[in-house]
Amino acid sequence: LYNMLQELRGNIRVFCRIRPLINSESVSSIEHIGNDGSIMVCDPLKSQTTRKIFQFNKIFGPTTTQGEVYKETQSLIRSVMDGYNVCIFAYGQTGSGKTHTMCGPSGGLSSQELGISYMALNDLFSISTSRVDVKYDIHVQMVEIYNEQVRDLLNIRTCSSNGLLSLPDAKMCPVQSPSDVINLMLLGEKHRASSPTAMNHRSSRSHSILTVHVNGKDMSGNVTRSSLHLVDLAGSERVDRSEATGDRLKEAQHINKSLSCLGDVITALAQKNSHIPYRNSKLTQLLQSSLGGNAKTLMFAHISPEADSYLESLSTLKFAQRASSV
Ligand code: ADP
Ligand code: MG
Repeated sequence: LYNMLQELRGNIRVFCRIRPLINSESVSSIEHIGNDGSIMVCDPLKSQTTRKIFQFNKIFGPTTTQGEVYKETQSLIRSVMDGYNVCIFAYGQTGSGKTHTMCGPSGGLSSQELGISYMALNDLFSISTSRVDVKYDIHVQMVEIYNEQVRDLLNIRTCSSNGLLSLPDAKMCPVQSPSDVINLMLLGEKHRASSPTAMNHRSSRSHSILTVHVNGKDMSGNVTRSSLHLVDLAGSERVDRSEATGDRLKEAQHINKSLSCLGDVITALAQKNSHIPYRNSKLTQLLQSSLGGNAKTLMFAHISPEADSYLESLSTLKFAQRASSV
């Protein structure tokens, strides 16, 4: 196990997940999914010569269940209990399945299709109760970043006027059971929904970060501190320049900037550059201590398979490939 952890440490992994066609979607741009993590896409509206192949650590096709996705993520998540910092990002255009992966369908609280966040916390609690040699304290924070401003989702009322924070000093909520966590997530979602902009719009235009802090203390008093960040990123789609004006344009510019900064940081880490440009966006600033060094990073690149999304899918695949290269 130790050797495996050493190997995973500091690495950046990329998993690609393709959601099923839904509703009236019929034509898919996915030609082939290989067992080796390769994916072949093709613009179905153009000639077959547009075929492109990408390679990732894993590909999850449209029939993959939440449980199967979690199984591949579990060892990474469990390593948080051994003192590692872990960041998991969900990247992709709006509607590609980011929230489905992280939380589940429409929040996921009531269904069988629980997302990674819930399964992770259940797992962490069960490890924490099963280990008699280490005593764990678990806290969670939940923030959103909208237009480069950080907002505490668990402490709206007591925050200065509008809940904006200049630093990631959001409220730390102690949790003792999965149901504590679910209640806090519901509260966070409620606060998010009551934002000045409508929930649907807002949630696709902001990054939401659920952070789990784990402090462990063993019999001889050795202390470990680590954190798990579960990040549902803003939609990566390009907005039409001719249509976006005013607030929409501003949002789009902030999102482009922060996603490209995230890409820059991940690429710099993958290339082991000496300078990592964390300070260029709120997102990378906030996650700095958990990106790079001994931290482990996993990016889910989400793909909408329908033909109309071909260009966005291509741009997601390119972004993800850049993150996983070197
Ligand atoms: P995003 O958060 O990227 O905007 P969502 O997670 O909201 O996208 O997914 C968009 C729609 O597709 C939702 O109705 C969701 O339930 C459905 N969906 C996404 N991924 C899957 C999947 N793997 N299996 C079944 N339905 C999915
Ligand atoms: Mg979403």
